[in-house]
Amino acid sequence: MKSSEFYNFIIVGAGTAGLTAAIVAARKGHSVVVLEKGAIAGPKPRGESMAHFPLLDEILGEGYLQSIAEVKPSHRVYHSPGDIKPVGDVDVHVPYYFFEWRTLINHMVEIAKDLGVIFSFNSEVIEPIEEKNICKGVKYRNSNEKNQKVFGNVILACDGYSSTIGSYYNVDYSKINCPIVKFLGNNANININKVSSPQLYFIPNGILDYAPNFPPSVAYLFPIGGKKVEAGLMLRMTQAFKMKTVKIPNEEEIMNVWENLKSRYPGFNDFFDGIETEYEELTVMPNAGLVKNFILGNGGAILIGDSAGFIDANGSSGLYFGIKMAQIWVDLISESLIDNEFDWSLENRTYLTKQFKDSKIYKTINSSYKLIGLFEWMIFKKLRKGNRINRFWKLIIWLLQVAS
Ligand SMILES: Cc1cc2nc3c(=O)[nH]c(=O)nc-3n(C[C@H](O)[C@H](O)[C@H](O)COP(=O)(O)OP(=O)(O)OC[C@H]3O[C@@H](n4cnc5c(N)ncnc54)[C@H](O)[C@@H]3O)c2cc1C
Repeated sequence: MKSSEFYNFIIVGAGTAGLTAAIVAARKGHSVVVLEKGAIAGPKPRGESMAHFPLLDEILGEGYLQSIAEVKPSHRVYHSPGDIKPVGDVDVHVPYYFFEWRTLINHMVEIAKDLGVIFSFNSEVIEPIEEKNICKGVKYRNSNEKNQKVFGNVILACDGYSSTIGSYYNVDYSKINCPIVKFLGNNANININKVSSPQLYFIPNGILDYAPNFPPSVAYLFPIGGKKVEAGLMLRMTQAFKMKTVKIPNEEEIMNVWENLKSRYPGFNDFFDGIETEYEELTVMPNAGLVKNFILGNGGAILIGDSAGFIDANGSSGLYFGIKMAQIWVDLISESLIDNEFDWSLENRTYLTKQFKDSKIYKTINSSYKLIGLFEWMIFKKLRKGNRINRFWKLIIWLLQVAS
């Protein structure tokens, strides 16, 4: 890509949100460039399950998600602290599927390329280029370590949980990011015919004798297909910050707990017997809250997907919600692009933000944060101890069923 080119849409980040934005914008006839810091799109696996909504057929092709999925769970299975109460099955109302991350991402890149989207890999965006606090382009470092500039009408910051663009505009990601261990394994000790639903294990503060001050967490295991699983550990920091008994752990402490969970947490450890690790990483998920403003500065740049904290905190799923958010914003912007000029007046920014906040998906996410906040406050802060959570286990499962 040549320096100082101009595009209608500059998309920073080729994850699912950025790729969707690119596809939707290109289908509307816009010129689009995607800048991705990795050597490939979605360089690190981020999610292997997604609920199916009609928009996915539109973006990916009719029936595509189903075609790459082996497993379609009908419920989620919750395990009480120490796995001592009977598991709670919670029905899932929207069909969802497990699949391989790379298959999905490669498919999205192919669609975008066919539509004429320009990809620039190994291109790390360093900062926005502004005029009167309006973002007019970005500076990025290319594969030869040279700084380059690209200009555009609209910059979509789809660069994930610690967005460079968002951080430049003072978004405090430490307030919305929660640590999470991500693990992919082959040859797991699982019979997919018997266990074809995600398993979630509540781990309240104080239950682990080897880490008594560890924050409340949820360990999970997703059956992707055959003997392949995704597993992990989500720390629930929103509650941890309010709890006197909790020590905020460093990376070493988190990984130590993770190793112990795999080898000896009741029920959970069974799956790891003979497993081969394919991928393991301590990363973060921005599921502790939404950003305040989606449009940054006096306009020009918009946060989409994880960079906006746009995740369903209920199910800790962000793939679909980032995809939907990208589609809505590209539609909104396209309506306001007149003669290739964009109106970033306060009036138009307020109008666009209101349009987005009036959408069903925004309301769903906003209420999921409130609901999960209340639920976790009740479980992890009020009941807090494993034996008390176990005592109210039936009620907790009922509440989860009602909320799902
Ligand atoms: C362990 C884990 C498991 C998850 N499981 C699920 C799941 O099963 N289902 C689900 O729905 N959601 C899941 N999520 C959430 C989901 O992964 C995210 O919500 C989703 O990936 C967000 O997409 P995104 O495009 O906004 O961000 P990302 O997928 O993070 O994409 C950001 C992209 O920007 C690039 N980038 C970053 N900085 C720069 C820069 N400065 N310049 C250029 N490029 C840059 C990155 O390399 C990356 O490709 C999971 C998250 C985690 C961490």
